[in-house]
Amino acid sequence: MDAVYLDNNATTRVAPAVVDAMLPFFGDQFGNPSSRHAFGSGVSGALKTARRQVQALLGAAHDHEVTFTSGGTESNSTAILSALETMPGRNEIVTSAVEHPAILSLCAHLERQRGIRVHRIPVDRQGRLDIAAYRAALSDKVAVASIMWANNETGTLFPVAELAELARQAGALFHTDAVQAAGKLPIDLKEAGIDMLSLSGHKLHGPKGIGVLYVRRGTPFCPLLRGGQQERGRRAGTENTPAIVGLGKAAELALAHMDEMTSRVRPLRDRLEDGLLQRIPDASVTGDRQQRLPNTAHIAFADVDAEGIVALLDRQGIACSTGSACASGSMEPSHVLRAMGFAAGAAHGALRFSLSRDSTEREIDRVIATLPGIVETLRTRSVSPAGTGRSLAIPMSALA
Ligand SMILES: *Cc1c(COP(=O)(O)O)cnc(C)c1O
Repeated sequence: MDAVYLDNNATTRVAPAVVDAMLPFFGDQFGNPSSRHAFGSGVSGALKTARRQVQALLGAAHDHEVTFTSGGTESNSTAILSALETMPGRNEIVTSAVEHPAILSLCAHLERQRGIRVHRIPVDRQGRLDIAAYRAALSDKVAVASIMWANNETGTLFPVAELAELARQAGALFHTDAVQAAGKLPIDLKEAGIDMLSLSGHKLHGPKGIGVLYVRRGTPFCPLLRGGQQERGRRAGTENTPAIVGLGKAAELALAHMDEMTSRVRPLRDRLEDGLLQRIPDASVTGDRQQRLPNTAHIAFADVDAEGIVALLDRQGIACSTGSACASGSMEPSHVLRAMGFAAGAAHGALRFSLSRDSTEREIDRVIATLPGIVETLRTRSVSPAGTGRSLAIPMSALA
C-alpha cells in the first residue's frame, strides 16, 4: 500500500517542477553569478527571477528586500543578531514561549553569554499570545520583538500585523518567523509593518538548506556572514544557485496553488479531525480552532503515549509526528504544550498531522480507519498510574 505522508510541517516533498527547474544548475548552468562572462550572467538572471518569485509570494514592495540564506534557522539568527547590533542602547528581546528552537535556543544563549534580557510572552490554553503581557514587555530597551506567524506544532496563528504595530510604537524592530505561514496563507508585506521575516524552502515543497530573510527597505541591518558582496552585502558567500532557483519555483507554485489551501486542504484536515474525534474517546483538538493554519491537526489523546502511536502508524505506512521534529526523539514533553498549560503527562499524548496540497481524501480515510484501533490497543495494554493521566512508557513488546 502507498505510504501516507502527513508530516508536512517537518518537511515537504520537493515538487517535481522544482527538481526540473534546479537540474540545469547542476549541469551546464554551473557558472558563478558574480562572473562577468556568459557563464555568470545566465545564472545571475536566474537568481533575479527567483528573487522576484519570492517577492511575489510575500507581496514585498521591492525585490532587493529578499535575501537568500541557508534556511529558516539562519534567517532567524541573522534577524535577531542584526537587531541587537543596529539598535543602540537597546539590549532586550521580546519573543513568545512557543517559538521554534531556532529562536528560543538563540535567545537562551544571548541571555547567558551576553546578558541580554529576554521576555518570553506566555500563551493561553488555546496557544494564543497574551497581548497585555506583550504590550507590557515592550519599552525603549527592546531592540526587537520576534513572534512567529504560525506555530509549527499546533498551527495557531499570531496577529503579527497588530504585534508589529505595537513594536513600532515602542521604537523596536519587529521580526516574524513565517516558516510555517509562507506558502499556506496569503502574505502581503507591502501593508504590514513587519521589518523582517524568515521563510524556509523545504517547508513549501522547495529544497532543504535554502531560505529567505526579508528585510523591509530602510530597516537597519547588520550581516551575519561577511565576505564578498553577494546579496548586496547582506549575506556573503557564493550563492547556492540550484537551491535558490528551486525555492523561486516553489514560491511561484505556492502562490499559484494558494486557493487550494482553503478550498481543498482545510476541508480534508477538518474531515480528519471530525473522523478521529467521532471514533476515539477522550481526544481533543489543541490550539486555536479558528485562528490556525489550514493544514495542521494537532490532537491530544488521554492516557496514551503519542510516541507509541507514531511507531504503530509508521508500521502501517502512515507518517505523522508528536510535534516538532527537533523535540521528538527526546522524551521531553513539547515546550509548546507545556506553555499552553498541559501537564507533562498530557503533553505526551499529542499527535500532529500536517497535510499538504498533495494530500488526498483516500489518505485521510486510511488514517481515520487505522488510528482508532491503535489507540484502543495502546490504551488497554498500558497501565496509567492513577491521577497522572499519563501512560507508562510502552514496552516494545506491546508494539509487536
Ligand atoms: C522548520 C522551521 C524552522 C527551521 O527552518 P530550517 O530551514 O529547517 O532551518 C524555523 N521555524 C519554524 C517555525 C519551522 O517550522
